[in-house]
Amino acid sequence: MKTIGLLGGMSWESSVLYEELINTEVRERLGGVHSADLLIRSYDFAVIEELQAAGRWDDAGNVLARDATRLQAAGAEVIALCTNTMHLVADAIVEAIDVPFVHLADATAQAITAAGLTTVGLLGTQFTMEQPFYRDRLAGHGLTVIVPEPADRARVHDVIYHELVRGELNRSSREDYLDIIDRLGSAGAEGVVAGCTEIELLVTEDDVFIPWFPTTQIHASAIVAAALD
Ligand code: GLU
Repeated sequence: MKTIGLLGGMSWESSVLYEELINTEVRERLGGVHSADLLIRSYDFAVIEELQAAGRWDDAGNVLARDATRLQAAGAEVIALCTNTMHLVADAIVEAIDVPFVHLADATAQAITAAGLTTVGLLGTQFTMEQPFYRDRLAGHGLTVIVPEPADRARVHDVIYHELVRGELNRSSREDYLDIIDRLGSAGAEGVVAGCTEIELLVTEDDVFIPWFPTTQIHASAIVAAALD
């Protein structure tokens, strides 16, 4: 089993979820008392959020690239970035390391394609829904991506930053998300991507009546597959 290096979620709320999912899958696959061989870089999310809000993506990319090289120097043989949004700077990380990088959007696209779907709705931060880096990556796999209308995008984004990364789960926010998912279905989405690693803390497969692609679960599985390859 390869040593896995994780760059946090970037809130610890989703870093914890990654750690749990990866360890659980390794135990299921290897049995006994096996667990994952993990190095985790967990961040002060206030620092990351400030860089995002200021649009300082180059600075954020430098921080993540530096930390990825530190994970590699500490023994990581596979590296993953546990957030959809920060894949905006994935290229900076890939350029800085020599070990494989498990790209979240590629793993998600493969799951969508394996389910036989071609058109999906995308929920995430406004960065993920509105900037091209993520939609283009999915489109590169032959997928068509639909995003919510502007007011819905603002609501989805606000719930992430004002509630989910702070560990708050509110019923009214879940209901708003379910309404937005319904509207994506009406707009032609055959399935919906939970394209923010904290969303699946709020909404689960049991809540939705359309194929649901929870990126933390999908990515965690791809990371385990790469580590056991
Ligand atoms: N974890 C979120 C994502 O998957 C957003 C918060 C962050 O920037 O890490 O996009």
